[in-house]
Amino acid sequence: NFAERSEEQVSGAKVIAQALKTQDVEYVFGIVGIPVTEIAIAAQQLGIKYIGMRNEQAACYAASAIGYLTGRPGVCLVVSGPGLIHALGGMANANVNCWPLLVIGGSPERNQETMGAFQEFPQVEACRLYTKFSARPSSIEAVPFVIEKAVRSSIYGRPGACYVDIPADFVNLQVNVSSIKDVERCMSPPISMAETSAVCTAASVIKNAKQPLLIIGKGAAYAHAEESIQKLVEQYKLPFLPTPMGKGVVPDNHPYCVGAARSRALQFADVIVLFGARLNWILHFGLPPRYQPDVKFIQVDICAEELGNNVKPAVTLLGDINAVTKQLLEELDKTPWQYPPESKWWKTLREKMKSNEAASKELASRESLPMNYYTVFYHVQEQLPRDCFVVSEGANTMDIGRTVLQNYLPRHRLDAGTFGTMGVGLGFAIAAAMVAKDRSPGQRVICVEGDSAFGFSGMEVETICRYNLPIILLVVNNNGIYQGFDTDTWKEMLKFQDAASVVPPMCLLPNSHYEQVMTAFGGKGYFVQTPEELQKSLRQSLADTAKPSLINIMIEPQATRKTQDFHWLTRSNM
Ligand code: ADP
Ligand code: MG
Repeated sequence: NFAERSEEQVSGAKVIAQALKTQDVEYVFGIVGIPVTEIAIAAQQLGIKYIGMRNEQAACYAASAIGYLTGRPGVCLVVSGPGLIHALGGMANANVNCWPLLVIGGSPERNQETMGAFQEFPQVEACRLYTKFSARPSSIEAVPFVIEKAVRSSIYGRPGACYVDIPADFVNLQVNVSSIKDVERCMSPPISMAETSAVCTAASVIKNAKQPLLIIGKGAAYAHAEESIQKLVEQYKLPFLPTPMGKGVVPDNHPYCVGAARSRALQFADVIVLFGARLNWILHFGLPPRYQPDVKFIQVDICAEELGNNVKPAVTLLGDINAVTKQLLEELDKTPWQYPPESKWWKTLREKMKSNEAASKELASRESLPMNYYTVFYHVQEQLPRDCFVVSEGANTMDIGRTVLQNYLPRHRLDAGTFGTMGVGLGFAIAAAMVAKDRSPGQRVICVEGDSAFGFSGMEVETICRYNLPIILLVVNNNGIYQGFDTDTWKEMLKFQDAASVVPPMCLLPNSHYEQVMTAFGGKGYFVQTPEELQKSLRQSLADTAKPSLINIMIEPQATRKTQDFHWLTRSNM
C-alpha cells in the first residue's frame, strides 16, 4: 500500500514530547539514559526546558516545586528501575504536600516483560502508593490521552503526583502522523464553592467568636487566595497565623500576623478558621493541651475526605479557598461588624508577641563566637530582598529560620513540608530559580540549609553552576545533625579509638569547607565565622546577580532553640 508507506512518520519520543507541550508543560527535570534520552531531546526541540540533575530524587523535588509555584505540573523524567525508584521520594513528598507532579519513567521493552530485562521493576504498581494516578499507555497512540489524564488528575481536586510509564519500544517506534489523535490541553481546575447554608453558619460563628484565629496554610497559597484572605483579615481585623509554607499569603510583617505568639494563639483561640491547612502534626492534631477542648474549627478545604480529620469541625466549607473566602466576605458584609481591636484577646496576643520577639532579639544580640542561630538569621534578615524566594531545610536551621526570616509574598517559601523531608532544598531552589528567571527576572533565591540537610543533595551545586542560576546557598554549619562537636573535642575523641565506635551518630566532620563544593564548579564560596564576615559575604553575593554562591556559616556546634512552652512531637504534649 503505497499511500500508507509514503505517509509522514513520527517517533514515539516526539509524540510524548508533543503531548507534554500540549498540556503546557514548561519544565522537565531528570537524568537521561536508556530509554528516555530521546524524549528529553524531543522536548527541548519543542521549546520545553530540560534541566539535567545529578540524582532523580532532587530532580523530582524540583519538578514538584514547579507544580506548587505555577499550578501546572513540572515533569520529572527518569530511566527504568533504579532511576524510577530514586524518584519515589520526590513523588511521596509531592503527594503528601498535595502538590501537582508528573513523573515519566522509561521501562523495558514490552516483549521482554517478566524475562529479567535490564532494570526491570513493577513500576506502575510501585508508583501507585505514591500517586493519585499511575498507568502505562497501551500504545503510542494512547500516550496523548494518558498524559492529559495524568496532568488533569494532578491538578483537579486535591492536587498530587501522577505517573506515566513509557516502555522502551515506544520511544523509537515510528508511527504514521495521522494515527496520532489530537488531545486538547486540559482546562484549569473547575472552581467549586461551599454550600450557602454552611457559609451563613460559618459567618455567624466567626461573628460570635471571643478569641478568633485564622490559620493560613499552603493550600491557601496554592489556591492563590492571597487577595481575598488579606481582605478578610483587614476588613474584620482578625488575627492570623500562617503555617510554614502559608507564610507570605498575607505578609509576615502585617500588624494582624500573630506568628510570634503561635503557641498562645493556638492554645486559647475559641474559633479557628482553617484555610487549606490540615490538622496533622504541624498543627498538633487540633487537640488539647495545644488547643481548648471546645474550640470551634471552621474547615475550608477542597478535599471532602479531609473534613473532620482528628477533630469534629463546627462548620465545613468544601470548595476552593479563594472562592469560599469570597463567599465568606460577602456573607460577613451583610451586617456591619468587625472584631474589636481593643479586645483582651488582642492584648494577650500582642503581649506574648512582644516578649517572644524580645527573647529572640536578646539571643541575636549576643556577641560570643561562634555565632548562634539567632545572630545568623537576624543578619540574614537585614539583607534579604523583600521579593526573594526563601528555601529552607534542616532541623534547627529551618525551625528557627522560619521565625526570623520574613516572607512578604505568597508561594515564596519552600521547605521540608508536611512530610518533613530533608534533601529537598537544592531541588526546590533550582525550580524557584527557573521560575524567577522566566517570570520575574532579577528575583533572587536564598536557600538556607543545615549542614546535614545540604549533604543530601550537595552535588546539585554542579547543576546550579551548569545552568548558571544565581542562587545563594547558606549552609548553617554546626558540624552535625541537631548538634555536633568542635574540632578539639573531635580530635580528643579520636585519639585512641576508631571513629565508627565512638563518634556520636549525629556528628559530622567538624569545620567542613562546604563552600569549596561551590568553588569547585566556578561559583563563589565564602567561609564565615563572624557577623562582619557574614554581612560582607551576603552583600557581595546579593550584588553578584550573575553567579551562584555558597556561604558556609560556622555556628556554635551546641547551639539550640530558645526555651519552648511545649516540646516538639512528644506524645504527652500533642
Ligand atoms: P499546611 O502544611 O500549610 O498546614 P496542608 O498541606 O496541611 O497545609 O494543607 C493544605 C490543604 O489545602 C490540603 O488539605 C488540600 O486539600 C487543600 N487545598 C489545596 N488546594 C486547594 C484549593 N484550591 N482550595 C481549597 N483547598 C485546597
Ligand atoms: Mg547541622
